Amino acid sequence: MKNLVTHHFQNNERPILTDSFGRRITYLRIAMTDRCNLRCIYCMPAEGILSIPRQEILKFEEVARLIKIFAELGITKLRFTGGEPFVRKGFVDFLQQIDSQNWVEAIHITTNGVLVANYLAEISKMRLKGINLSLDSLHAERFAQITRRNDFAKVQAALNGLLTLGISTKINCVVQKGINTDEIINFVKLSQKNPLEVRFIEQMAFNGTNQSVETFSASEILSVIKWQFPDLQQITEENGTAVKYKIDGFQGTIGIIAANSRSFCGSCHRVRVTSTGQLKPCLYGKKSLDLRALMRNGANDTEIKESIKLSLWHKKANGFEAEREIAHEQKESMALIGG
Ligand code: SF4
Repeated sequence: MKNLVTHHFQNNERPILTDSFGRRITYLRIAMTDRCNLRCIYCMPAEGILSIPRQEILKFEEVARLIKIFAELGITKLRFTGGEPFVRKGFVDFLQQIDSQNWVEAIHITTNGVLVANYLAEISKMRLKGINLSLDSLHAERFAQITRRNDFAKVQAALNGLLTLGISTKINCVVQKGINTDEIINFVKLSQKNPLEVRFIEQMAFNGTNQSVETFSASEILSVIKWQFPDLQQITEENGTAVKYKIDGFQGTIGIIAANSRSFCGSCHRVRVTSTGQLKPCLYGKKSLDLRALMRNGANDTEIKESIKLSLWHKKANGFEAEREIAHEQKESMALIGG
């Protein structure tokens, strides 16, 4: 990839990107690929999903150009997602390049951890603000049942490696009714001796089928935890999707994300770009802008910025309104959206 132009943004220099509700958009989640090395039962069918042809996936140069454009529009936090970002060949080199640019204040990654242990040395040299590790069971057999792969040991090695390196790590556990609700307390206990944030996420229906899901709700998750830890205390946090809690004497914290109940849309500050360059103002809503086409048809940065601003100005008030727009469509697999 050709050399990127370094630019250091001062805080007061950043423009402000808002929607028509006055919400400031500062957080970009960009998917590096639709491919994944796991087949989680709540994300895709056993046979997987039809992979997107390579030429339709954004090139590294295009991703870099979009990150710079979004940074110039006011984005300060960047998260790389997938599918599974580490399965994309050259991702770690690309990450090192973006890391050295200072375009954004914080770079984060969401990963299933299967390949992370292979890159701990590289990761430790970067200014990453945090890694979210998707892990839904602490038992190898159940891990295999949920992910349809026997990679539990690799994910455990990644978690231990990240903790040893002192890299800010969060565990994202999708709570699935009748599957792993009996592990909630063991996950909470992980934050006792580790500076981890263990986050429980309501299951969503982004599974590439028309199957709806019976959600084990955020309030049900909370009551399970409170039953065991009655002195659980809530910690407030700005702009977060997770409602955070702490237990006296625990090194880490607990978070609960009402992803299906969507109780946090009022302060939504995020925008997504899929691996094919489609802008999604809301996780639940439609793709509102084809950034790949704009770039490949020769649009200049100013034209792309104006299109992004217009698209985000029309962001829906919440995930329910956004979902209504595409209620007739089959829910895509989360691997195609980027989580
Ligand atoms: S559901 Fe949509 S509006 Fe609500 S927080 Fe998520 S992305 Fe934002």
